[in-house]
Amino acid sequence: MLIDGKAISQQIKDELKEKTAALKEKGIEVTLAVILVGEDPASQVYVRNKKKACEYIGYNSLSYELPADTTQEKLLELIEELNNRKDVNGILVQMPLPSHIDEKTVINAIDPKKDVDGFHPMNVGALVVGDKGFVSCTPAGVIQLIKRGLPDYDISGKECVIIGRSNIVGKPMSLLMLRENATVTIAHSRTKDLEKVCKRADIIIAAVGKAGVITKDHVKEGAVVIDVGINRNAEGKLCGDVCFDEVSAIAGAITPVPGGVGPMTIAMLMNNCYEAALNEMS
Ligand code: NAD
Repeated sequence: MLIDGKAISQQIKDELKEKTAALKEKGIEVTLAVILVGEDPASQVYVRNKKKACEYIGYNSLSYELPADTTQEKLLELIEELNNRKDVNGILVQMPLPSHIDEKTVINAIDPKKDVDGFHPMNVGALVVGDKGFVSCTPAGVIQLIKRGLPDYDISGKECVIIGRSNIVGKPMSLLMLRENATVTIAHSRTKDLEKVCKRADIIIAAVGKAGVITKDHVKEGAVVIDVGINRNAEGKLCGDVCFDEVSAIAGAITPVPGGVGPMTIAMLMNNCYEAALNEMS
C-alpha cells in the first residue's frame, strides 16, 4: 500500500485554510516571515513553495531575500526586529546559511514562540520532557502520514527503527515515536549490522540521505516503511533512501519519493504558523 503524502498534505492545508478564514472573521491574521540569505537554488525553491503555501491557506508572508555576504550581525538585527513585531507570528530562516554565519547562533536568536521550524533548544527541550512546543516539521509530518494514511494502524508497542540521528529529523523523530509509545531504536553511520537492526522493525523510518541504503534485506515482510531521504540517482532522478521497487513488494505500506514525506514538511510548517497565531491569542 502506498501512503500518499501529496493527498494528506493537501487535506491538512485545506483544514488550515478553513480554520484561518474563521480566524480572519475574528480579526486575527497569521503572518510568516521567511529569511533567505544567498542564492542557493534549492533554498530558493523551498522558500517559493513556502510562500505559495501561505498564499493558498490565507496567511500573510513577509519575504527577506538578503545577499550572500550579509553579516551575521545584520541577520541577527533583522531577527530581533521580527521578534519584536506583534504582527509577525512565525519566523523561518532558510538553512543552510553561508559558512560565515553560525547556524546555532541564528537559531538561538529566534523567539521560541515564533520558532515555527521547531529548531530552538527551548522547543527541542519541550519535546524531550513532553511539554507543549513547536516540533520540527519533517518528523511531525511523518507522524501525520502514518496516522492519516493508515488510520487503523496502532503505533503503540511497535518496534520502530529510525535510521539517521540528525537534530532536524532523526532525533526529534525518535522522541515523537516514543511519545506514540513505540519501542524506538536509532541507527546511524556507526551502527553495526544495519540489516539485522532494521529487520526487526515494524516501522522503518529512513533519514540518511543516501540513495538505495535500505534494500529488501533490511525490511521485514509487512513493515511500514517511511522514506525521508531526498537524493538524486545515477540518472539524476529524485529518489529516497529506500530501493522502492524491491521494498514495496514486501512492505505493508510505503511512502514514495517524491510525493511522500516532502509535501508533509510544508504542511506541518503551515500548521505550526497557525498554532503560533493561536498561542498569541491565549
Ligand atoms: P544528515 O546528513 O544531517 O544526517 C544523516 C544521518 O544518517 C546521520 O545521522 C548519519 O549518522 C546517518 N547515516 C549516514 N550514513 C549512514 C549509513 N550508511 N547507515 C546508517 N546511517 C547512516 O541528514 P538529515 O538532515 O537528517 O537528512 C536526511 C535525509 O532526509 C536527506 O536526504 C535530506 O535531504 C532528507 N530530508 C528530507 C526532508 C523532507 O522534507 N522530506 C526534510 C529534511 C531532510
